[in-house]
Amino acid sequence: MGNFIQLPLLAMRGRVIFPDTTVSFDVGRMISLTAVKYATAHDSRIFVCAQKQSEKEEISESDIYTVGTVVKLRQITRLPGNNLRLSVEGLFRAKAKQVSKEDGAFIATVEEIKSVHGEKTLEQAYLRTSKEILKEITSGDSRFPKDAAVNLEKCTEPDVFINIASHYMQISVERKQQVLECARILERLEIMDKFLNDELEISRLERKISAAVRQNIDKNQKEYFLREQLKAIHTELGDDVEEKEELEEKIKAKGMPEEVEEKALKELSRMSRMQSSSPDYNVLRLYIDWLLDLAWNEKTEDTEKLADAVKILNADHYGLEKIKERITEYLAVLKRTEGRTAPILCFVGPPGVGKTSIASSIARSLGRKFVRMSLGGVKDEAEIRGHRKTYIGAMPGRIINGIKKAGSINPVFLLDEIDKISSDMRGDPADALLEVLDPAQNSTFLDRYLEVPYDLSKVLFITTANTLETIPAPLLDRLEVIELGGYTTVEKKEIAKRYLVPKKQEANGLKSGEFSITDGAVLSIIENYTREAGVRNLERMIDSVCRKAAVRLADGKQQSVRVNEKNLQDILGAKKFEKDTSLGADEVGAATGLAWTSVGGTTLTIEVSAMHGKGDVMLTGKLGDVMKESARAAISYIRSNSASYGIESEVFEKTDIHIHVPEGATPKDGPSAGITMATAILSAFTKKPVRKSIAMTGEITLRGKVLPIGGLKEKALAAYRLGIRDVIIPADNKKDLEEVPEPVRGDINFIPVTDVDAVFKNAIIGL
Ligand code: ADP
Repeated sequence: MGNFIQLPLLAMRGRVIFPDTTVSFDVGRMISLTAVKYATAHDSRIFVCAQKQSEKEEISESDIYTVGTVVKLRQITRLPGNNLRLSVEGLFRAKAKQVSKEDGAFIATVEEIKSVHGEKTLEQAYLRTSKEILKEITSGDSRFPKDAAVNLEKCTEPDVFINIASHYMQISVERKQQVLECARILERLEIMDKFLNDELEISRLERKISAAVRQNIDKNQKEYFLREQLKAIHTELGDDVEEKEELEEKIKAKGMPEEVEEKALKELSRMSRMQSSSPDYNVLRLYIDWLLDLAWNEKTEDTEKLADAVKILNADHYGLEKIKERITEYLAVLKRTEGRTAPILCFVGPPGVGKTSIASSIARSLGRKFVRMSLGGVKDEAEIRGHRKTYIGAMPGRIINGIKKAGSINPVFLLDEIDKISSDMRGDPADALLEVLDPAQNSTFLDRYLEVPYDLSKVLFITTANTLETIPAPLLDRLEVIELGGYTTVEKKEIAKRYLVPKKQEANGLKSGEFSITDGAVLSIIENYTREAGVRNLERMIDSVCRKAAVRLADGKQQSVRVNEKNLQDILGAKKFEKDTSLGADEVGAATGLAWTSVGGTTLTIEVSAMHGKGDVMLTGKLGDVMKESARAAISYIRSNSASYGIESEVFEKTDIHIHVPEGATPKDGPSAGITMATAILSAFTKKPVRKSIAMTGEITLRGKVLPIGGLKEKALAAYRLGIRDVIIPADNKKDLEEVPEPVRGDINFIPVTDVDAVFKNAIIGL
């Protein structure tokens, strides 16, 4: 029989080694190390056999398969821990005839297994199909290494093919052993064919599973990959990718209402598809910035205690007791109802009486943010509601602008000068304003630019106006009007001393030792440099005084500046107004009336001249319809009672009457000049002068009755400012005298009248 060789035996765990392959593996067991040592001492050949149970540590002859491969040791590397890494080359298959243990190693007597060829063509046919199958296996993702497959493709020797393929196939040790042991090539090929088919099945299955798994992953990953690609493209194009990512993060972190966040993300994704140099890109960028900058849920907490709020309110303003009281009530209701039913306050009064500053004080006392927006001259609805963003340079309207400035959803929002809005063909801003102020609608206020609704219901709106007359009626209906009249000189002096002087002193950096102003100087500023209902010019003058003082101190020539009545003129220049002690001579055909205009109370001279003519009546000086009507009523009364004043009745047919009210630029209207016109007309016809020291106000009827008028307090203050000490008032207005502050009430002699005859008797000299 055949050739027997004696070789050291190496038992392999979980592994079968085939001829025609080079393999490297580690060994560590004593019995293996001894076998290696033996081999190196002889011809470097080892008989390698698989262990039947790979996990077994201590083995005997019966634990090892008898068929294995004779290998040549090509390389031995020492590893830490007494292990060796071996690189071996498979030479041929062999079967152990006998195994014994010598000097701590298994020594086997082996015989080569020679392959037995069968029908060549059949073998080749098998070989081809095997190759086909292998190709299919490796075409997809499979466990079979691709480069091995490439080599196998070229292989023409069935035995070699089988050896190499078996080596790479991930099949069990038993199966590998089966291939190894079989001597007949055709049989080997058959077995191989079966195994390859199984492998194909597995690989198909695997593909199916991984496809299913991938489908799931794909959905997420596809997007991810696409995004990454897009990012790469943008980076290539020089677009700012980080900017977009940052924006997305910011949008998500902002805590916008869902609808708004959706919108923002949608526009961001539109934006990221654009080139950053395109104008549309910038439009969207600006838009997203707007959404990000607006407060969506940032809110300030209101001051806990009402008493604390009221304290602040009182500290900020002098006097105004009734108004402060009313605001205190308002704050109490606001607290109770959490703003749901709070009316919208409207402060009405002349400039500089503190409307704005009270509103800001309300904000401060509540601990809310304060924004102010003037509606003066707003004509276009878009100024309130914004322009669509397709407009070039479009922006949100003033309301959203204000909210952005405030940075909270519940600021105090002052709408200044709502009496100054007007409408033209571009829509009515008053309508838009109505929507803003209407609690039923303002929780979903739609700014055209923003395109998403904004909740204004937490905003505390306050309005101001100089006059109620020009406020559109539907708007006025919504407002709770609080009137602020003018201040008396005494009040102004107190406001100046306690508030304005300290404020301006600080603003100009003047320390307390460096600057002082006497009461006399303050009084002189009030009387000789300003003539106003409020304290705005007074504040400006004080500012000017402080500024000039700061300049003098800066020179270093003076350590301190003390302003008194004498040196005031050096600082402010010559006096602008002299207190009218002599009001001028009494005149024929001129009477002094008192009017209430949007800038406070004022005096009004009415001039009448009677000329030869044919009974025409001329009215000049920008008079309103109501005023013209009261002029006619006055004429009619005098004509029908001409006899009692000693005027011949036919005079009227031959006389033209011209009534003029100077200061033509200011529009004047209202019925309260009625008695003044009547007085001037009668004086003109009787040629008897009107007393210059008397002023009057009152509506006249055709029968000569005197009807009550509004704004008595302001009118009284105006008369007082001018030094007039006799004032004729309608008897029905007597109750309003309570509102007239001291010392005005005490100093002025009010003459209440019920009919115009009493007016004439008091005012016309010698009647
Ligand atoms: P308005 O809004 O009515 O035109 P402002 O509120 O602007 O008037 O007032 C002008 C200035 O006068 C502000 O500096 C304000 O603080 C001050 N002021 C007005 N009234 C008072 C007051 N009663 N007490 C203290 N300062 C006042």
